Amino acid sequence: MSKKIAVFPGSFDPITKGHENILTRGLPLFDEIIVGIGHNTNKNYFFSQERREHFIKKTFEGEPKIKVMRYSGLTVEFCKEIGATHILRGLRTSADFEFERAIAQMNNAMAPQIETIFIVSDPAFSHISSTIVRDILLYQGDIAKFVPAAVHV
Ligand code: ADP
Repeated sequence: MSKKIAVFPGSFDPITKGHENILTRGLPLFDEIIVGIGHNTNKNYFFSQERREHFIKKTFEGEPKIKVMRYSGLTVEFCKEIGATHILRGLRTSADFEFERAIAQMNNAMAPQIETIFIVSDPAFSHISSTIVRDILLYQGDIAKFVPAAVHV
């Protein structure tokens, strides 16, 4: 059987304990997970791509099944380029679901061979978002509870 390779796409600006939890729980499902740091020209990022990549690599440095790559353009095109079979996403709320449903259905219409798999957030992390973490950083607050150690040390 061919290898099951998932792409976990996102901005990861920065990676949070919510992302970390989804990745850890995705590990038994796949042979490899590629964290795909997307680049969207319309977005202003808080951390540079290099820093965002560094935080994720440091968080999973002991985990050979997780790799980090940057990409721009359509996620399904990136998946095809690297031979990924699945897209992994996390779900926190019904708002996430509506948003994710549309993306997954569009991706399926473009590339039916790539299946999207959702993991529902652990309740301990479902309130965490990178957006709020960035707001806290802006006002020099403490983000230690919300992000892996690599981001705040
Ligand atoms: P995007 O820029 O595509 O929204 P993010 O970096 O915010 O990317 O998120 C990437 C993925 O991680 C998305 O599927 C998102 O729903 C999921 N995610 C984000 N925060 C959490 C969390 N606290 N718990 C579970 N999943 C999460």
